[in-house]
Amino acid sequence: MSTPYLGPDAGPDAGPYIGRFAPSPTGPLHAGSLVAAVASYLDARFHGGAWLVRIEDIDEGRSVPGAAEGILALLDALGMHADGEVVWQSRRKHLYQAAAEQIEASTYPCGCNRREIADSRLGFAPDGAAIYPGTCRYGLAQGRGMRSLRLRVPDAGNDTVSFTDRFAGTVTQHLARDSGDFVLKRADGFWAYQLAVVVDDAEQGVTDVVRGADLLDSTPRQIFLQRLLGVPTPRYLHVPVVRNADGEKLSKQTGALAVTAGDEAAAVAALMQSAGFLGLDMEQAGSLDAFWRAAIPAWGKLLERRAGAALA
Ligand code: GLU
Repeated sequence: MSTPYLGPDAGPDAGPYIGRFAPSPTGPLHAGSLVAAVASYLDARFHGGAWLVRIEDIDEGRSVPGAAEGILALLDALGMHADGEVVWQSRRKHLYQAAAEQIEASTYPCGCNRREIADSRLGFAPDGAAIYPGTCRYGLAQGRGMRSLRLRVPDAGNDTVSFTDRFAGTVTQHLARDSGDFVLKRADGFWAYQLAVVVDDAEQGVTDVVRGADLLDSTPRQIFLQRLLGVPTPRYLHVPVVRNADGEKLSKQTGALAVTAGDEAAAVAALMQSAGFLGLDMEQAGSLDAFWRAAIPAWGKLLERRAGAALA
């Protein structure tokens, strides 16, 4: 195998590249997710790396029957073929269980319900989850049963997690203040996204996470979990939230991308163009093959421009 080309921003200790796209099958892929999918695919291809697809159907209550198949069919129609088999989180629960057992000393059963946590008025984490006041940290109150499993975060002062995002730059969070002890297993019995994503990225050897900026605030919790589990932290690139000409978030527009057979290249080119990512002349799109051939180096140029801007 030849040494993969890791591109101008890969850093001195760059090794082989494994990227991934990890959609939740809660409905048809919306335009914001598709931009993240294309960005993760372009980054992997530009770096000569592998690109994996993982269906994040761990929240079985929110999974919509047929949605995963629809997403996979769309990726296929767009010429985005995964290297290796697609994995499904709903079939990997034993891995999440094993990870939770490995860090058992840092977890505790929590008997609080949603309303009780919201009533504590500590406010909300950036992702909308209520900040946990630590009520059950030192044991369940008399007569309370376990509802969820929580992970203890370090006390203020030792709770800082920082990382460098390839687009957003340095991101710092204080876990005690900004999230509090967070849930690993939910009251409905499903493993939480934060645990599943960390276990899967590590188990699949993912070196580079490229995803939407809505997950920027989750990343410090994921890095904290990686350190506890003793697994490597991947590089992260969070794609800015994409808006349409009217300033609406593309992630709010479900089904915004109508792809018809024979028209795939123009559709994906138009999407990435409207997202301001490629600076491609849409006329160039032509066939899907031609689109990808033009888009991969265009992505590399974009990375170079961003690196230049960061240095300036
Ligand atoms: N499954 C998540 C979503 O569709 C993405 C998770 C990730 O990329 O880490 O929003």
